[in-house]
Amino acid sequence: MNLPKSKVVFSAEELNARIKELGAQITADLNDGKPIVCVCVLRGAVLFFADLMKYIDSDQVVFDFVTLCSYENALAVGGNMQTTGKIKLIQDMRESVEGKHVLVVEDIVDSGNTVAYLRQYFENKNAIDVKIACLLDKPMTRKVPVDVDYVAFTLERPAYIIGYGLDDDQKYRNLNAIYEMVTD
Ligand code: 5GP
Repeated sequence: MNLPKSKVVFSAEELNARIKELGAQITADLNDGKPIVCVCVLRGAVLFFADLMKYIDSDQVVFDFVTLCSYENALAVGGNMQTTGKIKLIQDMRESVEGKHVLVVEDIVDSGNTVAYLRQYFENKNAIDVKIACLLDKPMTRKVPVDVDYVAFTLERPAYIIGYGLDDDQKYRNLNAIYEMVTD
């Protein structure tokens, strides 16, 4: 396969070991016999979701899927132009979450806009609680404060990531490791 200039940041083995730990932690935390609706945020979280689900040891897990789109809006605030992240739900859930645990499985928490939106969305639907799991946290680029309950890995530098579900122009999602794109 031809890849853009990039380097491996987390190997397939590292991903598997860490996701196994997260699965055990989630199993212990949500083990009260109530249903757990696990929500995959398409498309970037799809491989993380598939692997994480295999490590949650519970007969109460159900799967659901949402697709969001985010876009930047230019806003005039006090005479200055500013950009704000706007999130739109373009494919909604099929399961009810009322009286159930919700586990949102997201690829990357970057600005925090997507996770903030999803937490509010599920809290408004009367879930017992809403937990967020993410593959990669990028705290440096946060624009809104968010609580992320389960973080597989944290990246403390600016980077554009591909592989293991994450794309560059819809490509490279099928790589089995996480890569950082590098410039010369
Ligand atoms: P947010 O800014 O709302 O926290 O994150 C929005 C989305 O931007 C993430 O779910 C992810 O799909 C995308 N994103 C953020 N950083 C990266 C990155 O380094 N690589 C890729 N492929 N997508 C990213």
